[in-house]
Amino acid sequence: MRAIQATVVLTAALLCGPNALYAAPPSEEPGQQEAAMGPVPPPTEQKECPGNPDPLGVSRVVEIDTTDGPGFGFQHYKLYDFLNPKEVVLTFDDGPLPNRTTAILAALDAECTKATFFSVGKEAAGYPEILRQIAKSGHTIGAHTVTHKDLSKMKFEDAKDEIEKSISIVHRAVGGPTAPFFRFPYLRATPETLKYLASRNIAVFSTDIDSFDFKRWTPNKLVAHVMKLLDKRGKGIILMHAIQPHTAKAMPDLLKELKKNGYKIVQLTAKEPVKTLPEYDEKIAKDMQGMPDALTDRPMKSVVRTISGGQ
Ligand SMILES: [Zn+2]
Repeated sequence: MRAIQATVVLTAALLCGPNALYAAPPSEEPGQQEAAMGPVPPPTEQKECPGNPDPLGVSRVVEIDTTDGPGFGFQHYKLYDFLNPKEVVLTFDDGPLPNRTTAILAALDAECTKATFFSVGKEAAGYPEILRQIAKSGHTIGAHTVTHKDLSKMKFEDAKDEIEKSISIVHRAVGGPTAPFFRFPYLRATPETLKYLASRNIAVFSTDIDSFDFKRWTPNKLVAHVMKLLDKRGKGIILMHAIQPHTAKAMPDLLKELKKNGYKIVQLTAKEPVKTLPEYDEKIAKDMQGMPDALTDRPMKSVVRTISGGQ
């Protein structure tokens, strides 16, 4: 039996700023990773949003204690109703992909608001630089399997492999702490995989508001659909995808509509970062060849510099 106060333990006012817990690497210094794994102080309030005098921002940050793997999102898990009326959580699955995820990121940054990204391992390994950009912008990052297969149709051992490898890959690609947050592809869990995630103290996320953005809707239709569902339910965790071109195109308008209609953004963060399993860190090492060790990357311009030609 879990007490709700043990699960959602902290809220803090926040309008803007790169303060997400276990979203951005807290230190760029090599050798500081262990220190970075400890509790992070609550975010400080920042009211400035460069270039945007009236941003959507973030109204509240919640910290989730993932002990025993709590589930969130009323489509599947109805125990923790932590959002107040008009509160919304933005979540993006799959990716990262160039142009799409990066456009979504730009729209979120322009409004100084924060989301949670559930990254797929093979794309995280392919585009670690985008995942690091997401982390550095202060968003929260969780995992969503390696190959996006339906885990409910796999043997448990294979499903466990998909879960653990994706956690290790996403963690390695980010190069710093990531959240113990997981979302099942197609939202299809099994009793066995849920029990396993609980044993690993990893929270599971479903949704309240499914954007259905995998349909080839126009950006306008997508915004209208999400706003209609929100109008009906009044609040919720919104499920979107970081790989859909129309989702990327719709994002500036969706964020404006949310603000116009009085919705407030809540950012999810984790009380403790995810603990990867060393055996899976080893298993994924060959997929991550060429990736720098955690927190040892140098800015590209300090490594490669144009000295002739170009603009
Ligand atoms: Zn997905």
